[in-house]
Amino acid sequence: MAPAAGRGGAGSMRVRWVYAARAHLEDRASRLIAILGVSVTAGLCALGFYLICDLRDGAWHQAQQNAQNLLSLIEQSISRNVEMYDLSLRAVAEGATHPRITELDPELRRLTLFDRSATASGLGMMIVADETGRILIASDPSASLQANLSENPDFKALKADPALTLAVSGPRISRVSGTPIMALSRRITKPDGSFGGVVSGAIHLSYFRALFERLHIGRGSAINLFQADGTLIVRHPYQPQNVGRSIAGGATYRQFKQAERGVIVERSAIDRQMRLYAFAHLANLPLLVDVAVSAESIRATWWPRAQMVIALTLGLSAATLSLTLLLQREIVRRAAAEASSRAATEELATLALTDSLTGLANRRRYDDFLAKEMRRSGRTRTPLSLILIDADRFKLYNDQFGHQRGDAVLKAVAACLMQHVDPLEALACRVGGEEFAVIMPGAGAAEARAIAERIRREMVVRQIPHADEVGGAVTLSIGGATRVPALSDNPETLFREADAALYEAKRSGRNRVRFSEALADPRPLTRSA
Ligand code: GH3
Ligand code: MG
Ligand code: MG
Repeated sequence: MAPAAGRGGAGSMRVRWVYAARAHLEDRASRLIAILGVSVTAGLCALGFYLICDLRDGAWHQAQQNAQNLLSLIEQSISRNVEMYDLSLRAVAEGATHPRITELDPELRRLTLFDRSATASGLGMMIVADETGRILIASDPSASLQANLSENPDFKALKADPALTLAVSGPRISRVSGTPIMALSRRITKPDGSFGGVVSGAIHLSYFRALFERLHIGRGSAINLFQADGTLIVRHPYQPQNVGRSIAGGATYRQFKQAERGVIVERSAIDRQMRLYAFAHLANLPLLVDVAVSAESIRATWWPRAQMVIALTLGLSAATLSLTLLLQREIVRRAAAEASSRAATEELATLALTDSLTGLANRRRYDDFLAKEMRRSGRTRTPLSLILIDADRFKLYNDQFGHQRGDAVLKAVAACLMQHVDPLEALACRVGGEEFAVIMPGAGAAEARAIAERIRREMVVRQIPHADEVGGAVTLSIGGATRVPALSDNPETLFREADAALYEAKRSGRNRVRFSEALADPRPLTRSA
C-alpha cells in the first residue's frame, strides 16, 4: 500500500505544480517576470559560456606563443653552435687535401688543421678519415687511431652521394669518450673531385640536455630534437630509453614533414598524451626540433578559473530563477487576494442591498433606485410607475399559522413578483414587513395596472390557505401611482400617491388593485400595456 500512496502523493504534487505553473503563466505580470527571469538566466549562461571559451582560447593561444618563443630560442642556439662547428669542419675538409698541409709532420698538421672549436664545451673530438675509412688524424693527440669509419652510416652516405656535403649521425656512444654523442661529418673532396674521406666531429648529447634543461617547461611538456628521418636524438625531460627511437611511423611526424615550421595538436607517438607541438626544421641541417606542451598543463591554466566562472554563473542563475519564482508567487498571491477581496466587497455590496428572507431588493435599494429614476424621468419627461403591495390580514395569518409559515407566505409573494416583473425593466423590492413595491421606469398607468393585476391574481391562483373568516386564502391589496415627475418632485410624493391608492384598495374590501388615477398626468404616455 505504502508505495502506491507514495506514487499518488507524487502524482498529486505534480498536478498541483502544473496548476500553479499554469496560474502563474496566465497572469500577465507573472508571465512578464518569468520571461525576464528566464532571459536574464539565459544571458548569464551565455556570458558564462563566452567567458569560459575566452579563457580556454586565451590559454591555448598563450601556450602556443610560449612554445613558439621557446622553439625560436632553441633553434637559434643549436643552429649557431652547429654552424660554428660546421665551419671548423669545412676548414678541416679543405685543409685535409691541401698538399702543403699533408706534407707537414703529424704534430704541425694537427695544429694547422684543427682550431680551438673542438675544445668548446659540449663539442667532442674531430677526426679525419681517408676514403677507406682509416683514421688519419684526430684533434686529440691522445686518441687512438685504430678505428675504421667505413661502416658508419654517415660515412657510407657521404661516400655514395657526392652532392651530400654534411651528414648528421643518429645518437650513439662515442668510441673515444664512451658518452652519448651525435656526429657531424663532412665530405672531403680530392682535387680531382673524387671522394677523399670524411672529417667528422662529435657533439655531446649532454650539450643539448644542458641547453634544454635551462628552459622551464610545464609538467607533461617536452622538448625534442630529431634527426630529419624521425630518430629521436635528445628529449627533455630526459628519458634514456627513448633516445634513438623513431617516430617516423607516428601521426605527429607525418605532419612535421609537411611544413618547414608550424603548430599542431596531436597525440604523442611516444607516450600517447595529447600535446600542442610547435616544430621547426633547422635551416640547412637535417635536424628537427619541437616544443611539446601537454594539453593537460594548458588545461591547468584555465580550468580552475573556468570552474569559478561556472560556479558563479550557476549561483547567479539559481538566484535569478529563485527570485523570479518568489516574485511570481507573490504577484499571483496578491492578485488572488485582490480578486477575493473584490469578490467579497461585491458580495457585501449585493448583500447590503438585498433582503435576506426573499432575495428581493431591500428598502435601501428601493430608496436609491426610486430617487434615481425620479430624477431621470423628470429629465427625460417619461412616466414612472410605482406599485405598493401589501398582504391582507397578515397579522392574523401569523397569529393563526405561526411566524415561520408567515415567512413562507412572504417568500411566495416575492415569487409572484419575480414571476411577473421583468428585472430588466422594473425593480421588485420588499420595503417593510409584509409590504412590497415595484418601481417601473417608463411604464404608464395601464401597463403598471396590468402587472399589478397579474400579481394579485397570481396570489389568488396559488390559494395559500388563510383563516376562513378572511376568505380562506392569502390575498394581496395593491395600490399604484404613475407620474411624469416634475424636477421638483421627490420620491415621497409618488409613494404617498401609491400608498393612498393602497389604502383605497384596503378600504374597498382588499384583494384588489387601485390606482391614483385622479392625480395621474394627463399627457399621453410613451409606452402602453
Ligand atoms: P391589513 O390587511 O390591514 O394589512 O392587515 P395586516 O394584519 O396585514 O396589517 P398589520 O400591519 O396590522 O400587520 C402586519 C403584520 O405583518 C404584523 C407582523 O406580525 C407581520 N410581519 C411583519 N414582518 C414580518 C415578517 O418578517 N415575518 C412574518 N412572518 N410576519 C411579519
Ligand atoms: Mg401592512
Ligand atoms: Mg397587511
